Amino acid sequence: MPRRRLLALATLCAVPLALAGCASVSPTTRVPGTLTVVASFYPLQWVAQQVGGDAVRVSSLTPSGAEPHDLELSLRQTRIVGDADLVLYLSGFQPAVDAAVAARAPRHVLDAATAANLVSFASEGAAATPGPASNAASGPLDPHFWLDPTRLARLAEAVGAELAQLDPANAAGYQSRAAATSADLAALDADYAQGLASCQRHELVTAHAAFGYLADRYQLHQLGIAGLEPDAQPSGARLREVSDIVRRTQVTTIFFERLVSPKVAETLASDLGIASAVLDPIEGLSDPASDYRGVMRQNLATLRTALGCS
Ligand SMILES: [Zn+2]
Repeated sequence: MPRRRLLALATLCAVPLALAGCASVSPTTRVPGTLTVVASFYPLQWVAQQVGGDAVRVSSLTPSGAEPHDLELSLRQTRIVGDADLVLYLSGFQPAVDAAVAARAPRHVLDAATAANLVSFASEGAAATPGPASNAASGPLDPHFWLDPTRLARLAEAVGAELAQLDPANAAGYQSRAAATSADLAALDADYAQGLASCQRHELVTAHAAFGYLADRYQLHQLGIAGLEPDAQPSGARLREVSDIVRRTQVTTIFFERLVSPKVAETLASDLGIASAVLDPIEGLSDPASDYRGVMRQNLATLRTALGCS
């Protein structure tokens, strides 16, 4: 073959298209022997890394330190969704990711909403409403399941089973790491149950209603200033309602988040003459030196101080 034709063929094969005879030229960089897992935001990424270990390469569609609710995807990211060996996402949480999954139809998809068994909670003024002891109610499904470690453990087990099926040669590793992750999360759950068992106050006034699962698990009562979406501006009526409950229940602290402007929560706290503190909904990782477990433990310490737990 003349040299010129060889060069032309090489150029053709470098074009990222599935051309016959160019199979070795892959459009994505892959490390041989590892699966590529795309997670849609941080807690799912953490689970994939814990369970996948060295056998997977995990990337997150939501940049670290970004608020994931209203994520937008670039064309390149949409393509990555289609090329991944496994996409781990939470349906109904990030519309752009739902659309990319529908459009690109990845080979394997795990929807955390199924593994975590999402429910909805009454958050609006529920403290004033007499009713059953459980926080469960009808309404939009609450996506923030990862703040209940036992639900995240269920996801870890589902991810372990999925990876074992995709990559049978490494199945034992996935299964044992899934079991270890699940055990870690059970220990975290036990610490929460013990740490929050005896508190003077049970009201959790939060910037957005991200802590429904946590409140439900540990018998606290969440009062979200905004609803399930962090950007929604609370109405004047809502602010008055929250203020009334705060006064009546002697709440000492209003919680705000790192990834969302603290303005509303801080203004309300200062109007009421009480403290404000960070309670992290772990929608992204605001401190790269920490991880899911570290932030959960920090949250527990914050809660114990604010709620007067012994
Ligand atoms: Zn949220």
